[in-house]
Amino acid sequence: MSSLPLVFSAPKRGKPPTHFADLDEAGRIAAAADLGLPKFRANQLAKQYYGRLNADAAEMTDLPAGIRDDVGAALFPPLMTPVRHISCDEGTTRKTLWRLHDGTLLESVLMRYPDRNTLCISSQAGCGMACPFCATGQGGLDRNLSTAEIVDQVRAAARALRDGEVGEPGRLSNVVFMGMGEPLANYKRVVDAVRKITSPEPNGLGISARSVTVSTVGLAPAIRKLADEGIPVTLAVSLHTPDDELRDTLVPVNNRWSVQEVLDAARYYADTTGRRVSIEYALIKNVNDQPWRADLLGKKLRAALGSMVHVNLIPLNPTPGSQWDASPKDVEREFVRRVREQGVSCTVRDTRGQEIAAACGQLAAEEG
Ligand code: SAH
Repeated sequence: MSSLPLVFSAPKRGKPPTHFADLDEAGRIAAAADLGLPKFRANQLAKQYYGRLNADAAEMTDLPAGIRDDVGAALFPPLMTPVRHISCDEGTTRKTLWRLHDGTLLESVLMRYPDRNTLCISSQAGCGMACPFCATGQGGLDRNLSTAEIVDQVRAAARALRDGEVGEPGRLSNVVFMGMGEPLANYKRVVDAVRKITSPEPNGLGISARSVTVSTVGLAPAIRKLADEGIPVTLAVSLHTPDDELRDTLVPVNNRWSVQEVLDAARYYADTTGRRVSIEYALIKNVNDQPWRADLLGKKLRAALGSMVHVNLIPLNPTPGSQWDASPKDVEREFVRRVREQGVSCTVRDTRGQEIAAACGQLAAEEG
C-alpha cells in the first residue's frame, strides 16, 4: 500500500487539538490523572460526553466548579463550531456547516424518517478520490478528520435530536459515512470513531454497528482489513458501473483496484461478517444507464456475492458545472428490472436535501 500517494496523501492543514473523544478508556484515566483527578472522574466525564451528549465542561455540574475550567481547557477544546443550519423537506432534513479549529469547513446532514433517524457524516475535509460527478471530489483533499471530529458530528446530532431541535424529540438510530471524504483513506481514525459510535455508554454512543454504514470507492485491501476488525458495520461500495473501462474514469481509483478486485474484497467482507454488502450506483443519463450494463451488473454481483448483496441506485444529483444528468424514470425502472432479473435485489434511493445542496455527492463546503 506504500505506492499510493493518491489515497494516503498527507494532510495539508493543522492538526486538531487532542480531545476527550480521541482517547480510549486508559487514555481518559491517564488524562484525568494529569489533571490530578482520580479514576472515577474519568468515568464521570465519559458519562457526560457519551451518555449526556455534553461536550462543554462548564455544563458538567457533577464536577466540582473549581475544576471545570481546567477540564474544559485540557480535554474539551472547541472542535467544531456550527456556521449554520439549513433545513428542507418540510424540516425533516437538516444540513449543518461546521468550522473546525483551523478554519476547515465540513458538513453533515441529518435525515428524519418515520422509522429511523439517519446522520450522514464526513470522514475527511474534502476528498482525494476525484470522482468527476461528485462535488467534493472536485476540490481535492484538505485533510483527514481526527477521531474526535468524526465522533463529535454524531454526538452533536444525537443531542440536537434529543433536544427537539430538528422536529419532535427523537433518537439517532443510523449513521452513514456518506458525507465528504473517503472513509477508508482515513482508516485508523474512522475505525476508532466507529468503535466509539457503536460501543455502549460510557465508552461510546451506543448506536448499533448494524445501523452504521461505511461507504467506500473500493480500496480493496482496506475493505479486507475492515472485515477483520470484528465490527459488523454495513459496507457500501460505490461501484457505479460493472466494467473497468468506464469505471476507470467514473471512479479513478479503479485504475489501482479493478471491479473484480473490489468485488472479491466485498465477498470477503460478506463472508467474514455475515453482512450483506450494499452496492451504490449513481445512475447517470447515457453514461452508465444502458440495459446491457444493468445485465452485466446483475450477473457480476450474482457471481461474486450471491444473495449477500443489495443495489442502491442513486439518481445522479447534477453538481455545478457538470455536464451529467439523472436518467429518465423509464430508463431507471428498466435498469432496476434487469438487475432484479439476475436475482439481485435492487431499489432506488430517495433523494433528500436537494434544494439545500445536501443530497448525495453535493456536499462541498465552498464558503467561508
Ligand atoms: N467516498 C465514499 C463516500 C462518500 S459519497 C464513497 O465514494 O463511497 C457517498 C455516495 O454518494 C457515493 O456512492 C458517491 O459515489 C455518491 N455520489 C457522489 N456524488 C454523487 C452525485 N453527484 N449524485 C449521486 N450520488 C453521488
